Amino acid sequence: LEAQLRQSQKMEAVGQLTGGIAHDFNNLLTGITGALELLNRRLQEGRFAETGRYITTAQGAARRAAALTHRLLAFSRRQTLDPRPTEVNRLIAGMEELIRRSIGPAITLTVVGAPRLWPTLVDPNQLENALLNLCINARDAMPGGGRLTIETANLRLDGRSARERDLPPGPYVTIAVTDTGTGMAPEVAARAFDPFFTTKPLGQGTGLGLSMIYGFARQSGGQARIQSELGRGTTMRLYLPRHYGEAETVEPAPGRPAAAPA
Ligand code: ADP
Repeated sequence: LEAQLRQSQKMEAVGQLTGGIAHDFNNLLTGITGALELLNRRLQEGRFAETGRYITTAQGAARRAAALTHRLLAFSRRQTLDPRPTEVNRLIAGMEELIRRSIGPAITLTVVGAPRLWPTLVDPNQLENALLNLCINARDAMPGGGRLTIETANLRLDGRSARERDLPPGPYVTIAVTDTGTGMAPEVAARAFDPFFTTKPLGQGTGLGLSMIYGFARQSGGQARIQSELGRGTTMRLYLPRHYGEAETVEPAPGRPAAAPA
C-alpha cells in the first residue's frame, strides 16, 4: 500500500509537471496570437517595415511550443504498454484500500464484481492508474460527499450496440465507475477526453487524466465512454476485450499486498 501511495504521489508530480507544460504552452499561444494581431494591424496600416519583428516573435514562440510538445510526447512514449492476462475483479480488490484513502470518508465506496468475470489482456499498472484517476475525478465531483460505485460485467456486443460504441463486435469486460456528483453538461462531456481540457481551477486540473485513460482503452483494443447527467452524476465506462487463453493470475507489483479474490 505504501508503494502504491508513493506511486500515486509520483503521478501527482507528473500531473503537476504536465500541468506546468500546459500553462507554458498556453502562454506561448497567447504570444503567437498577439503577434499575429499586431502584424495584421501593421499590414492594414501599410507599415510594412514594422512587420518583420512580429513574424520573428510568432516564429520563435511557435518553435518553443513545438519543443514543448516534443518533450511531452517523449514522456508519454516512455509509458509503454505491457499487456498481461488480467483478472479485473482481483485487480480492483487489490486497490480498494488505496481508493478508499483517496476519496476520503465522506464518500461511500461500493464494489460490485461480476461473478465469473472474463479475463482481459491489459497492462495492469495502467489499468490501476486509470481506475484511480476515475475515482479521483469522481471525488472531485462530490465535494459534499456521495456514493462511488465500481461495477464490472461481462458484455457481448454485436451489430448495432458494437457500432454505437465504435468497437468491433465481440465479448468485452466492462468497468463502470459511477458517482452521485455534479454530472457534466453535454458540452463538457463532449470535450472531456480532449487533452488539456479541464474545468478545474488553474493548478488543480491538468486536463490529461481522461485523455490518457481514453488512449489506454483504445490501445488495449477497447473503449472509454461517458454517461452523465447534470446535477445527478456520472458513469465512466471502460470496455476491455475479453482475453482467451490460459487462466493466469495477476502478479502484484513488488511491495504490494496480494490481491484478494473478489
Ligand atoms: P482534470 O481532472 O485534470 O480536469 P480530466 O481529463 O480527468 O482532467 O477531466 C476533464 C474534465 O472532465 C474535468 O475537468 C471535469 O470537468 C470533467 N469530469 C471528469 N470526470 C468527471 C466526473 N466524474 N464528474 C463530473 N465531471 C467530470
